[in-house]
Amino acid sequence: MALISFTDRGLYCEQGDFYIDPWKPVRRAVITHGHADHSRTGNQFYFAHTDSYRIMKWRLGQDISLQTAGYNQSLNINGVSVTLYPAGHIIGSAQVRVEYKGEVWVVSGDYKIEDDGVTVPFEPVKCHTFITESTFGLPIYQWKPQAEIISNIHDWVLKNRAQGRYSVLSAYSLGKSQRLVHALAQLGHKFYAHGSVYYMNEVIKEIMPFPHVHYLRPETPKDEVKDGIIMIPPSAINTPWIRKWAPHSLGMCSGWMQVRGAQRRRNADAGFPFSDHADWPGLLEAIKATGASQVYATHGFTAALSRFLREEYHLDAGIVKTAFGEDEE
Ligand SMILES: [Zn+2]
Ligand SMILES: [Zn+2]
Repeated sequence: MALISFTDRGLYCEQGDFYIDPWKPVRRAVITHGHADHSRTGNQFYFAHTDSYRIMKWRLGQDISLQTAGYNQSLNINGVSVTLYPAGHIIGSAQVRVEYKGEVWVVSGDYKIEDDGVTVPFEPVKCHTFITESTFGLPIYQWKPQAEIISNIHDWVLKNRAQGRYSVLSAYSLGKSQRLVHALAQLGHKFYAHGSVYYMNEVIKEIMPFPHVHYLRPETPKDEVKDGIIMIPPSAINTPWIRKWAPHSLGMCSGWMQVRGAQRRRNADAGFPFSDHADWPGLLEAIKATGASQVYATHGFTAALSRFLREEYHLDAGIVKTAFGEDEE
């Protein structure tokens, strides 16, 4: 029997009777990170990394039953050893290492390789079978270093300011917003945030020392806001709320901005290819480092990645259909 099987509720370890990131309610759920497509309501018991504690309580409710552990601390679930390792994706994100009778599987959750200065950096884990995400699993996706993207955003903000425009940055409220705030605050920027970014930032400040962002209100002085950066989630683009801050320039931070035309299609004035997921070289590097002979790709460009792994690396690579990737990027 395989150590992890693929069921209609999610990735299941029968020997330990637990699921990893289940998409339907189960008794025991091991959660890789706080994003909505991996961390869902309705499970009886949750297990996640310590830094996910406040994020998950904030998103799923204070009354959920949530046990936590640090990285590299093993937990025994019905005789199966479960250990969390840094995934480098967002604060608290973890790869789940599952070991039983000498067999080791690792479920990556979402991950990225580059150290973003906020998240504990990705750590490869040796295993027999690796279940990997594949969000940007095509060779066209290759990220520039974070410092270069941040410097481009900085120049764009100064240009907007000189032209009397507000700078509006769109980024996912959990993950990318923290990277942007953390890096741009070091260049002296101030932030005026939409509610979802503001409240998430308040949660992050309970986990670690973190720069402050102001709650953007209709009465916030215009001059102040023009000197700063307005932070919004993608869902607030094209809403009357943000249109009131005019004239503005909209900058979109997303891995999809790497592809020509994506910026125009989304009506952004500037596109910054910036992602919390591994790019193509990052995926290959991570997969190689596990030493796994068997690999399953869960979400994104799974067909392209698994075919490459079979043909070029001669791995036993396949695809698993999951419900991940629906609420990100
Ligand atoms: Zn995620
Ligand atoms: Zn995901």
